[in-house]
Amino acid sequence: STWWGNVEPAAKDPILGVTEAFLADPSPSKVNVGVGAYRDDNGKPVVLECVREAERRIAGHSNMEYLPMGGSVKMVEETLKLAYGENSEFIKDKRIAAVQSLSGTGACRLFADFQKRFRPDSQIYIPVPTWANHHNIWRDAQVPQRTFHYYHPETRGLDFASLMDDIKNAPNGSFFLLHACAHNPTGVDPTEEQWGEMSYQFKAKGHFAFFDMAYQGFASGDPERDAKSIRIFLEDGHLIGIAQSYAKNMGLYGQRVGCLSVLCEDEKQAVSVKSQLQQLARPMYSNPPLHGALIVSTILGDPELKNLWLKEVKIGMFCYSGLTPEQVDRLTSEFHIYLTRNGRISMAGVTTGNVGYLANAINKVSK
Ligand code: PLP
Repeated sequence: STWWGNVEPAAKDPILGVTEAFLADPSPSKVNVGVGAYRDDNGKPVVLECVREAERRIAGHSNMEYLPMGGSVKMVEETLKLAYGENSEFIKDKRIAAVQSLSGTGACRLFADFQKRFRPDSQIYIPVPTWANHHNIWRDAQVPQRTFHYYHPETRGLDFASLMDDIKNAPNGSFFLLHACAHNPTGVDPTEEQWGEMSYQFKAKGHFAFFDMAYQGFASGDPERDAKSIRIFLEDGHLIGIAQSYAKNMGLYGQRVGCLSVLCEDEKQAVSVKSQLQQLARPMYSNPPLHGALIVSTILGDPELKNLWLKEVKIGMFCYSGLTPEQVDRLTSEFHIYLTRNGRISMAGVTTGNVGYLANAINKVSK
């Protein structure tokens, strides 16, 4: 027998598998509205102007040393301001344990591992539907998963009544994963009033809110407004966790730059929590990558570049089309159009050149 004779091929990732299939298709009319990444009107990848300028400023001026285990202090500082607010008392009081993470995925995974280590009997409540990788992340961290109602297919909106019931019916002190804004894949977010009611109920039940914020700036076009859900929970005195990512809102996908933060009771607790997050990171990847962190801290640390970034953050990415898996399969097999089987269309993949073709194909398969 061979060493790895027992290894079967892993199931294809439902999101990344779409791109693989797209790349393998020789058809000249093929369209990829699968993965969420900015494209210009010719379907080519986009690098933001603020990022190009930061690259110019950095060029030749940086060394290649390791970052500390917790990552770039400057980048983390600027990143916390985006989530907690420029003048946040929690930042001033040093109550936030925060480390640079391997983008949003790494932040979620680090938190899941932390949850498992220090709350070994806890579970995580995940919305239906959600970004598929959330399930993998908490599964591999060996945290049992429960789900809560979120999307209502008939109204194409939030199933708020059921969501509130699920919050009420969960055991006191449960962990909930919330999308801070621009919910993936539905694009449906609670209103401010609804966030307020959720926060109130979380308080009553002693639940923990973990915010995954992968799209700050994409819901309203304004990162400050998109942080409103988090600010509402902060005002109500919740101790929360946040995963932040620059993959989308700075277009830094492959640089893997993000941040995990956990708001603590006081500075002493924050020091302990941060040291434990670092201890989780050390045997996994030792310390996070340098270059992306340098780009982010260069942009956010300079008022002029930060303003340019704020202008460049565009609105919206995903459209939950309501197409069925069978209709999606037809789009792919008959029209060479690639998207995930849940019917999610990345609007960034729609161009002047393909919009007519796409609309016609959708019309054909949905008749
Ligand atoms: N969380 C959500 C909801 C996402 O949609 C994504 C990316 O698609 C991520 C996290 C993580 O992305 P990344 O690891 O590239 O920051």
